[in-house]
Parts: sequence; C-alpha cells; structure tokens
Amino acid sequence: MNQFLIFLIAFSFNTTSKEQWTEVNTLDETIVLDLKYATKDNFVKEKLYDCPRCFLRPDVAKAVIAAHKELKKKGYGGLKLFDCYRPRPIQRKLWKILPDDRYVANPDKGSMHNRGSAVDLTIVDKKGKELDMGTEFDYFGPEGYHSYTKLSKQVLTNRKLLRETLAKHGLHHIKTEWWHYSYRAKQYELSDWVWGCNKK
Ligand SMILES: [Zn+2]
Repeated sequence: MNQFLIFLIAFSFNTTSKEQWTEVNTLDETIVLDLKYATKDNFVKEKLYDCPRCFLRPDVAKAVIAAHKELKKKGYGGLKLFDCYRPRPIQRKLWKILPDDRYVANPDKGSMHNRGSAVDLTIVDKKGKELDMGTEFDYFGPEGYHSYTKLSKQVLTNRKLLRETLAKHGLHHIKTEWWHYSYRAKQYELSDWVWGCNKK
C-alpha cells in the first residue's frame, strides 16, 4: 500500500472517531475524572484501560456536562465520573476475568457502556469530596439499589439529587446501581474503537 493511501485511511478513521465521540472533559475541564478501570482500584482488581480518558457519544457528553453545570450552579463541585464509554475489546477482557452476567455484561450482547451511552458517576461537593451515596461505586448488593431505603436521610437525599438532576437532562437510572445512568433518546451501535493515549 502506498503512503498516500495509508494517510487517507488514517485521516478518515480519525475524522470518524471525532464525529462519533466526544472526550467529556474537553467540553468542561472542571468535571472530575476518576476512571477506576484505568487503575487497579476496581472490583476485578486489574487495570483494564491503558490510560484514563472519558469518551461518550456527543449528545450523551453534552447531557452529562449540562447536569454537571446545574450542580455547580447549586453550589456543588459537580459530577465525578468513574466510567464512560467502555470499548468492547475491554469488555471481553472483563468477561474473561469474571464471566458472570450478574456483574459483567456478556460482550457478545454488549452493554450501554459499549455503545458510549452509559456513564458511572457521583456528585462531589465544592472541595471535591464525594457526597455520601451509602456504598462505594460497583458495590453489587441490595444496598446499592435505588429501592433500598435503610440508609441515612442524607444518603437518600443525595441519591435523589443525582437521579433528579440527571433525569432532567435525559440520563436515566437503573434499579440496581445508584451510580449508573444511561441516555436513551438515541440508539447507538456497539463499538470496538479503543482510544489512544497520545492526545495529539
Ligand atoms: Zn455503569
């Protein structure tokens, strides 16, 4: 293949990925990133991402930023993101470590994270401290459910604030994970695209 062709393919791939994906913190750098799968501090205790970057489909990223700004206006620090788009090759790695669909989506079916339309997050106060949501991120048990009410009044208020703020911007909760929200106004395809670590 000649070099011009290679350039063309590389250029078109780059353009496509830019149209399909938004790196969330490029829209607002005050949003806090704490991408647990880029560290060993996660429920499988393995580092799955080469570097911590948060990509979402453009409309989803805009919705997250709108919610973040609303929380800041109310006096909070805004949102802290634990996980965003998760490429399917990474989902396969996760499935290899824990092939149990109670905790991990089967990569052949894929999940909203593999479509770039789900995000795991919490709220931080002005000093950047996480609000008490009753459990850690990725706590798999009834205490992590929205329906679980044997929690302090403050925890229930914090979860409600998260639910209501995100719902206003089209991000909906699921029953079993207080930290997981997905954007359902549009359908997106499963994706195998993996981000690079060189930001140029
Ligand atoms: Zn999630």
